[in-house]
Amino acid sequence: MKTKIAVLIILLSVIIINAQDGAEYCSSGKVRNEKRLNKILQTAYPGDSKIDALYYKLNLRFTTNPNYLDGTVTVKAKVLESTNNFFLDLSAGMTVNSVVKDGISLTYTMFTSSNQLKIFLDRTYNAYEEFTVEIQYEGVPGSNPDSFESFGYSDQYRNNGVPVIWSLSQPYGAREWWPSKDTPADKVDSSDVWLTVQSDFIAVSNGKLVETITNDNGTKTFKWKNSHPIANYLISVAITNYSIYEKSYEYSPGNFMPVIHYIYPEYLNQIKTNLDKTNEMIRIFSEMFGDYPYLNEKYAHAQFGWGGGMEHQTATSMGWGAFSESTIAHELAHQWFGDKITCKTWDHIWLNEGFATYLDKLYHEAKYGTETFKTQMNDVFASAYQAQGTIHVKDLSNVGSIFNYARTYAKGAVVLHMLRGIVGNEIFFELMNQYSNDSRYAYGVAVTEDFKGITEQISGIDLDYFFNEWIYGENFPRYRLGWNSTPIGNGKHTFKLRINQEVNSSPQFFTMPIKVKLWTLNGDTTVTYFNNAKEQVFETEMNGVVTKFEFDPDNWILKQVLSTTEIDNDDLITPTSFELYQNYPNPFNPDTNITYKLQAASYVTLKVYNILGKEVTTLANEFQQPGKYNVEFNVETFHQPRQGGGLTGGTSLPSGIYFYTLRVWDSSPDKSGSEFQKTKKMLLLK
Ligand SMILES: [Zn+2]
Repeated sequence: MKTKIAVLIILLSVIIINAQDGAEYCSSGKVRNEKRLNKILQTAYPGDSKIDALYYKLNLRFTTNPNYLDGTVTVKAKVLESTNNFFLDLSAGMTVNSVVKDGISLTYTMFTSSNQLKIFLDRTYNAYEEFTVEIQYEGVPGSNPDSFESFGYSDQYRNNGVPVIWSLSQPYGAREWWPSKDTPADKVDSSDVWLTVQSDFIAVSNGKLVETITNDNGTKTFKWKNSHPIANYLISVAITNYSIYEKSYEYSPGNFMPVIHYIYPEYLNQIKTNLDKTNEMIRIFSEMFGDYPYLNEKYAHAQFGWGGGMEHQTATSMGWGAFSESTIAHELAHQWFGDKITCKTWDHIWLNEGFATYLDKLYHEAKYGTETFKTQMNDVFASAYQAQGTIHVKDLSNVGSIFNYARTYAKGAVVLHMLRGIVGNEIFFELMNQYSNDSRYAYGVAVTEDFKGITEQISGIDLDYFFNEWIYGENFPRYRLGWNSTPIGNGKHTFKLRINQEVNSSPQFFTMPIKVKLWTLNGDTTVTYFNNAKEQVFETEMNGVVTKFEFDPDNWILKQVLSTTEIDNDDLITPTSFELYQNYPNPFNPDTNITYKLQAASYVTLKVYNILGKEVTTLANEFQQPGKYNVEFNVETFHQPRQGGGLTGGTSLPSGIYFYTLRVWDSSPDKSGSEFQKTKKMLLLK
């Protein structure tokens, strides 16, 4: 998820409306605050590393008027290192009434500044011993001033005043409404969520609805059971007077999984068309990445009061306006990448969001074809160009930084696209499938290096360079291209392409295999050049003159081509210095050649003076790319400055000594002096 958050937070500071985000951006979205998690670590928050959480049960009662929660959370955990105490993450806005283990009350302390509930066990527990505690607590979720607005009681876009009770815990919000070990790194093996609400409401959560009880006090209790590993932030509630719209998904002949849409009654009819696309999306993703991960439970949408979508496990929460085909596909994709495999720490969030963003496009490609895919990828690229910093998130205290759309979502998606370009379609889909089903990560957690390991194992390619520059590096390559096609006899030609990269910070240049399509009169052929230097020349022998070429013709790479220049009679190697050579022939009449070379793109003037120092003509006066240049000077046809401006041509010059001067500036000429200046003498002999 968090399809919206990121964009909206950007909007707060820089007024940019990114139209390309279209599908995932909802103008009616609730703006979440950008509060920093300044009371805990800026690095990945580990929770209490002395314990391994095994199971959560949330037995909660929600009321509105007043908005309130009271309940009991059961936590089963295994001790990892000998201890007589541990802590859970819980907002100081909640009041704990008791902590009980095996019917015996335990001592506990709330640390309000760190939002931690410290519990003292009845004795010292050794490593691998397990215990279960029950925490009875109450309060108004999200009432703490430090709240990340991860819990709501309404939907401002619902005009009938019916309350909606909902959660959105990612990344640090679980503690605002229930005590847990608040890190995605520690999944529990299973969970139960029992929700007691007013009897005209339906309460939705993860897994299977195993029982609904009508109580005699005007309430109902919904008992949800999730039998798969789950990260604490994916445990959710969504509660209101839903209409239920259900379509079964037949995953094998005669076997069905419920696909259930819990939608506001007044809203259902307008979105049925898009909801009906869900089943085909499940089928398409299942074919690509393996079965839907929770076939024995369900897939559900539950409408809620935040603007975007959030991929709660088996129970995606969807805001007003989030039911676009793209957002439905994006959140569904998370069931494989995000929920089944979860980023271990938030700095690797691209493994969730970059994947879901790209999978939405893959769904469109599978359903609507290549042209639709290309158009949509162009939009993703447009956002990715705006990305600042490394995809590997550096500031984990900042929710806006974690869920930055351009970087985490768009550029993350482009990274997968580029990987597909490198390894090819077949291997790409094989490695995605393997990653999704690898027993080390499936229903567990992963970091970038885990995904990289799979990509290298399946492709057989060392991809250090790729992940280093695209996940841990910044920006994208900017190329300058020089080329020519030189006859070498028998009708054959050598095509030469010089690739120069502008200086980048980190990496200094990008190593990438680059496809180049070469056109001769006989048709086209595509070659791949492995560009692993800041400046490099590639050669290909061709059966005929190359009339044109296309650099990265299928647009696999996030890049910019700054210039493309055809350079004649040159080896295309960029000089390592500036130089002005002796003219040839010399003495001369009527013409001679003057050669110079530039080691960098520069502003250049080349002028001829007579023996008195008066300018005779200007042979060059422009910005030029690095390379070797040859200029002809002909005393019968040259142009010289005319009095009053302009040029006049073809004046004959007397025999004698002349001078020519090359001056080079790094940008435009200025008075403070040139970077390089050299003068040489030549003799005109008539
Ligand atoms: Zn997402």
